[in-house]
Amino acid sequence: MECVFCKIVDKEIPSATIYEDANVMAFLDINPRFKGHALVIPKIHVTMLDELGDEAIAHLFVVVKHVADTLKKNLGARGYNIIINNGRVAGQVVPHLHVHVIPRYEDNKQGLGFEAAFPVDEEAKKQLEELAKKARIEKELKPEFVTKKKEKEEAEAKDEKKESKSSSEPKLKLYDEDSYFNDDGTPRFV
Ligand code: 5GP
Ligand code: ZN
Repeated sequence: MECVFCKIVDKEIPSATIYEDANVMAFLDINPRFKGHALVIPKIHVTMLDELGDEAIAHLFVVVKHVADTLKKNLGARGYNIIINNGRVAGQVVPHLHVHVIPRYEDNKQGLGFEAAFPVDEEAKKQLEELAKKARIEKELKPEFVTKKKEKEEAEAKDEKKESKSSSEPKLKLYDEDSYFNDDGTPRFV
């Protein structure tokens, strides 16, 4: 695979790594926009955020949070930008999903936020209601892992009831391979 980030995952090319687990990796950007500019990536090769499942996104952003927190504590950043360039038209250069975590310091010389990167689109500003209608999501979104956790809890509660009725019956061991949570409640990533 001719993907530079897959090569980093496979250790074919080196990186200044700051975190790694079975599914996610964080390393410093080779061309930092600010000191400590980090990239957090899923190890699996996908290009855009919407190609990743809910659980994978949840875990990716748990890592993003910890990376940001560590950059603040250890490098003295006061805030940070979290940016994902999704797709070539959005400026994505490396076609392997990555979250930029860019620490920001008090002595910023550049513009601070949106005003530095994107001027206001006056035409779009006139169409806010119309555009929101086009993009509105009517159904309530329930992340997969929340649904699964609830189902598991309900099944366990039912199981406990059954068990208290007849304690001689062996306890049914629920094994949900897709669960986002380990038995001790810590998040698990598939
Ligand atoms: P994009 O524009 O695709 O959102 O950002 C790609 C980022 O990857 C850039 O900020 C660029 O500096 C960084 N990058 C590209 N190649 C490498 C590499 O080989 N190693 C590291 N650490 N970063 C890279
Ligand atoms: Zn890749």
